[in-house]
Amino acid sequence: MAYEKLKQRVLEANLALVEAGLVVLTWGNASGADRDAGIMAIKPSGVAYSKLTAADIVVLSIKTGEIVDGGGRPSSDTPTHLHLYREFPSVNGVAHTHSLHATAFAQAKRAIPCFGTTHADNFYGEIPVTRDLTAREVESDYELNTGRVIVERFRQGGIDPDNVPGVLLSSHAPFAWGPTPQKAVENAIVLEFSSQMALAGLAIAPDMKPIPAYLLDKHFLRKHGPKAYYGQPKTGT
Ligand SMILES: [Zn+2]
Repeated sequence: MAYEKLKQRVLEANLALVEAGLVVLTWGNASGADRDAGIMAIKPSGVAYSKLTAADIVVLSIKTGEIVDGGGRPSSDTPTHLHLYREFPSVNGVAHTHSLHATAFAQAKRAIPCFGTTHADNFYGEIPVTRDLTAREVESDYELNTGRVIVERFRQGGIDPDNVPGVLLSSHAPFAWGPTPQKAVENAIVLEFSSQMALAGLAIAPDMKPIPAYLLDKHFLRKHGPKAYYGQPKTGT
């Protein structure tokens, strides 16, 4: 069957979001892209996670948005995912959840400051928050405009989506991404955990300050970029 491998990976990414406790009911979705094939695969709309199989995963053309495989309707958030794949070419996985603490920051319209090394290992600085969508942006092409305000936030802020693989959508919830669907899920987990730690820290010390720049650099750059040395040497690609 076509696209079997990607559909299986996207199924596993969706189930991993549930396993990590980031998804309540059906409030969340993960997708993955195959750049060579020009496609993305995503969870179908409104299907319970307990009943989800690889055959249910819907495959679409990144360029046209047309469904190329899978019988059901794709997640209603699909236009947001498509826009992120079109605008962030190194991203091959996107995860959206309404995880509790990250969503609290999103609803407060506050970025998540980088207070420590847990956050700094995956995000090179604060996790930004978008502006609110306008009434017109919500009325038509809502999900596409959601993608647009995310990209706008990164472009206007001069933020590299490879260095900051997630965002808070104002009044809504987080999106995270990465070079694979599995990495997008990991970043969604770190994003939630960092939010929870930030809230706890702010409760203890409301005037607490972000991590020193030299410590942020050390933790992010030892895992990312040309000088990375954390973990085992990479083989192959
Ligand atoms: Zn949502």
